[in-house]
Amino acid sequence: MWRKKMKNKEFPEDIKDYLVPSPSGRMFYRCLSCKNQFSIENLLYVCPECGGVLLLYLENPLLEKIDGKRWRKIFDYRKILNLLPLSGIFLFYEFIAPVIPLSHIIYLGEGHTPIVNASKRLKDIVGLEFFFKYEGLNPSASFKDRGMACALSYINYLSKEKGKKIIAICASTGDTSASAALYSSYLSEDIRSAVILPEGKVTPEQLSQPLGHGAKVLEVPGVFDDCMKIVEYLSERYDVALLNSKNSWRILGQESFSYEIAQQFSYDMKGKAVVVPIGNAGNITAIMNGFLKFYKAGIIDELPKIIGVQSDHADPVFRYYMQKEGKRRFQPVKVRPSVAQAAMIGNPVSMPRVIELVKEYDEICGEKRFFVVQVKEQEIMDCMIIANRNGNIVCTQGGESLAGLIRAKEKGYIGKSEIAILNSTAHMLKFVSFQRMYFEDRFPDEYEVRPKEELKNFPIKIRPKRDKEKDYEGFIKECAEKIAEILSLS
Ligand SMILES: *Cc1c(COP(=O)(O)O)cnc(C)c1O
Ligand SMILES: [Zn+2]
Repeated sequence: MWRKKMKNKEFPEDIKDYLVPSPSGRMFYRCLSCKNQFSIENLLYVCPECGGVLLLYLENPLLEKIDGKRWRKIFDYRKILNLLPLSGIFLFYEFIAPVIPLSHIIYLGEGHTPIVNASKRLKDIVGLEFFFKYEGLNPSASFKDRGMACALSYINYLSKEKGKKIIAICASTGDTSASAALYSSYLSEDIRSAVILPEGKVTPEQLSQPLGHGAKVLEVPGVFDDCMKIVEYLSERYDVALLNSKNSWRILGQESFSYEIAQQFSYDMKGKAVVVPIGNAGNITAIMNGFLKFYKAGIIDELPKIIGVQSDHADPVFRYYMQKEGKRRFQPVKVRPSVAQAAMIGNPVSMPRVIELVKEYDEICGEKRFFVVQVKEQEIMDCMIIANRNGNIVCTQGGESLAGLIRAKEKGYIGKSEIAILNSTAHMLKFVSFQRMYFEDRFPDEYEVRPKEELKNFPIKIRPKRDKEKDYEGFIKECAEKIAEILSLS
């Protein structure tokens, strides 16, 4: 099924032995607090010694042996292999999780999302060249599928090797649960998923996804941060596999977003800036780590700027970086209702990862290349509506990316001659309820969103007098004439 379609000898000599990879190297968890290392035999979420946050690290002699130029060639040729396990995020196998045999990798169509140029009108509004990367075109319609493909491939491998039944659980602002439920339901009966959601805080579209994939859906009164605490309680006391981004396997999968950007821009990251909304901070962690790994391997020569965006209704990361360097202290915030609901998180679990990586990122660059900007709910909503009206597809969080780009330009974090790549993190259809509230002017006060008249849009009802049953031709004619009048057709 996943055999190579092309004959070996048709590939260049210097890469053909590496095109179809086999497991290589060694992976281990490292605690960001006490710096202890732990084996990946067991699924860990926090440091068993001190409870600190973990990241997965890789020691692979191949990374020393193969230079950047050759890696680029390997990845570019791998695209034409048509090999299912390497068709998604594992195209970058050696940089993600090269301990999982190809036969255990799950591919459900994730990754390699298109990069689409912003429409001319949008570029005129913002005043610089930029692109969207459409993460909403992943199978469950958000970028979460990248991390899930990696985490579930690893869990699949563990379950097959150890013959273990696994209950996978996660807390979610909506998209994690949709993705977890999809990937779990694809696997054998031995892997079941349960998702814990804040009641009334995910959109009906997002709720329909885990229900449709047969997950146990548990609604809890409160916000995401409360659900996260419950899931942590469960994972500390019961035998469950945690699928939140505390699970560092998910971070690895999400690094593929950066690898793809590098490949889609022919590995030229000079003068580029990547804009991403921050919620639990798993994604921005992955994006920085991804670019760092490619940089260290010589695959890219420069690190792009990273611009994180937060709403002023959920902005703990922004507040942290507003403080003076050296004097910063992290303080969780109490969130207020946000249209960027998937990022409405006051106590991001990946904050220690962000702090560690930002330091490394700026050090390597020799200058500040990581920024966080704050935007208003009004700006997020206006940007979402404006982007979709002008031929690009963004959800509320994608609107947040666009609002963030505008803010970053105002602040001088990004210049006119630079090129921005905006993470459009989910499909707009998951968040249409916010569009509806905008068009119908039904936002509760606490959102602080007032729709702009000129951006509203409603269906126009055609009400012909002619009876469809009695005079069908007349009915068609009357409808058509009314429409011609509305459209001022001549
Ligand atoms: C999860 C999510 C985010 C936030 O990403 P984090 O990794 O939690 O920072 C943003 N947008 C969408 C659509 C999401 O699903
Ligand atoms: Zn530790």
